[in-house]
Amino acid sequence: MPVTADFETVEVSSDLLILGGGFSACGAATEAAYWAKKNGLKVVMVDKAATDRSGAVAMGLSAINQYVGIGAGDNTAEEYVQYVRQDLMGVSREDLVYNIARHVDSTVHLFEKWGLNIWKDEEGKYVHEGRWQLMINGESYKIIIAEAAKNALNDAGGELVERVFVVEPLMDGNKCVGAVGFSTRENKFYVFKAKAVIVGMGGAVHVFRPRSVGEGFGRSWYPPFNSGSSAYFTIRAGAEMTCQEVRFIPVRFKDGYGPVGAWFLLFKSRAVSAVGGDYMVEHADELENWKPYGLAKPIPANLRNYLGMIDTDAGKGPLYMETDEAIQKIAEEYKDDPKAFKKKMKELESEAWEDFLDMTISQAILWAGLNVKPEEKHSEIAACEPYFIGSHSGASGAWVSGPEDLDTPYKWGYTNMTTAEALFAVGDGSGASSHKFSSGSHAEGRIAGKQAIKYILEKGAEPNVDKAKVEELKKNILAPFDLFENNKGKYTDPEVNTEYIMPRQFLHRLQKIMDEYAGGVTSAFKTSKALLERGLELMGLLKEDSDKQAARDLHELMRVWENNQRMWIAESHLRSMLFREETRWPGYYFRADTPKMDNDNWLCFVNCKWDPNSGEWEMMKRDIWTMPGV
Ligand SMILES: Cc1cc2nc3c(=O)[nH]c(=O)nc-3n(C[C@H](O)[C@H](O)[C@H](O)COP(=O)(O)OP(=O)(O)OC[C@H]3O[C@@H](n4cnc5c(N)ncnc54)[C@H](O)[C@@H]3O)c2cc1C
Repeated sequence: MPVTADFETVEVSSDLLILGGGFSACGAATEAAYWAKKNGLKVVMVDKAATDRSGAVAMGLSAINQYVGIGAGDNTAEEYVQYVRQDLMGVSREDLVYNIARHVDSTVHLFEKWGLNIWKDEEGKYVHEGRWQLMINGESYKIIIAEAAKNALNDAGGELVERVFVVEPLMDGNKCVGAVGFSTRENKFYVFKAKAVIVGMGGAVHVFRPRSVGEGFGRSWYPPFNSGSSAYFTIRAGAEMTCQEVRFIPVRFKDGYGPVGAWFLLFKSRAVSAVGGDYMVEHADELENWKPYGLAKPIPANLRNYLGMIDTDAGKGPLYMETDEAIQKIAEEYKDDPKAFKKKMKELESEAWEDFLDMTISQAILWAGLNVKPEEKHSEIAACEPYFIGSHSGASGAWVSGPEDLDTPYKWGYTNMTTAEALFAVGDGSGASSHKFSSGSHAEGRIAGKQAIKYILEKGAEPNVDKAKVEELKKNILAPFDLFENNKGKYTDPEVNTEYIMPRQFLHRLQKIMDEYAGGVTSAFKTSKALLERGLELMGLLKEDSDKQAARDLHELMRVWENNQRMWIAESHLRSMLFREETRWPGYYFRADTPKMDNDNWLCFVNCKWDPNSGEWEMMKRDIWTMPGV
């Protein structure tokens, strides 16, 4: 049983510190290492897990979701800006979206060069799943991208530190000078010192009570590895945050959370209610209420969710994906040639299963367990619980400085630098730039990696780290061990004790608050001012109890700090939904007391900031800059 006194302190110094080892962090490491080598600088990357299989792409993916195709003349970066503006109902940082869109193709070409198999047609052109999506053999996607990052770090004399859970920022006033964390394998407390820091520790899951509870707990659409470490880190650094109210609720195959993109985009499948109605057709009139976005194409993801929810609210669930109908329709072309028909059916069937085997293997297992043959029988789909994933169709994250060459009101530092000096944010860590996905997150990492090195060369000073603060953090972070050790003998069951709570119990309490007051699954995604205010009251009490969490081992210590990070992102979410007095994204959440979109007052960013000195939150509106002529 570890106690605080057992822990050795390990110091790691670098010029640039990259936190996380996912797509954005690997992009940052690959690019930064190149520039660091040229300038004799050291880059260190820290990952909570093993980088080969860490983060949201751990299991692999079946498509690259952002490829613009500028070189081939397929699309322009400006068109991508229009697409994101439309999907987020007008709220997006168009400068950031544009910056990623104009760089993302080169990132995808690097992926291919590193060994990723992107599907090609007979003419050698990429096979598109949809306008922006490319089909890949992606079961080893993460390994390929991690290998490139590791090679670049090695080549530049950098270092990768795996299985270290990063907790808090180290600050020198408003400047970030490093981070602290602990090993998830050994009794070691880590102190990282750096001249600049990039945060790429992903989004958050299990802030809300998931649909899968009890024996299914741990299963979710968003992988359970990311607990809001990026948001926690930037909030605690005192950086301004944006769009913390924008959660993402994907509609996926029920219980296995399998992807639906290939079905909708590649197979052109329909989704229907239990009574057979196509909700996208039957409730099309409702889209009028959400114009201009409701009437433009593609219909925003939240509105598509919403039209399905109209049916489930009316008792017309479950909803189904008409897989059998879609497959038959495609194969029909071959119906006069039995041999070709059989071959095509086989091909479609294998594509259908491969889509899951590439990225959500558990869905294939569930289908097998439920005797589903997609070519014979439709499958149930459902709206998942809410997630925070700013790189996908959510938008939460840090408010970052925009690109140098665009004339916008959002420039105060180096591109992707937060409002805290020397602290950069990428991927799910940077807000209001949705739809960057795996490729765009990597591209954004590369942009920030280069900018962070530029910052270090122009302004980087030796980090001034307060030793007393580090000792205080160490004591606080490891306190759950002593709390357990000093009190465990008081009762017969070590998990039931008046002196402490176990991390699992704390997590359930957090999830109950969010589910019932902040518009989770069991509240049908509905909330209101009164519910949010009560939720904040309960969150205050939960916060008081957060330092009563006890840990028996390193794994539980990680659970404690994951919980605390989730609790902070939850609070920023409650506050932001309370501040935005409208319903802008029905299908993600409904403010039942302000059920309409209010473009006159709320076509703006909702930003928030926690002040480390006073402990107070500040809520604010920020104007939306629209790209001229786009
Ligand atoms: C189910 C699902 C399906 C998706 N499908 C597609 C798709 O088909 N195509 C596509 O292009 N994109 C897809 N995406 C989006 C894509 O996965 C993300 O956009 C991308 O992974 C975001 O990159 P990131 O670096 O921000 O986060 P991640 O890639 O998730 O990386 C986060 C990293 O931070 C580390 N970390 C977390 N906490 C800590 C901590 N406290 N200390 C240290 N390290 C920490 C993690 O171990 C991980 O290495 C999908 C995402 C999900 C969840």
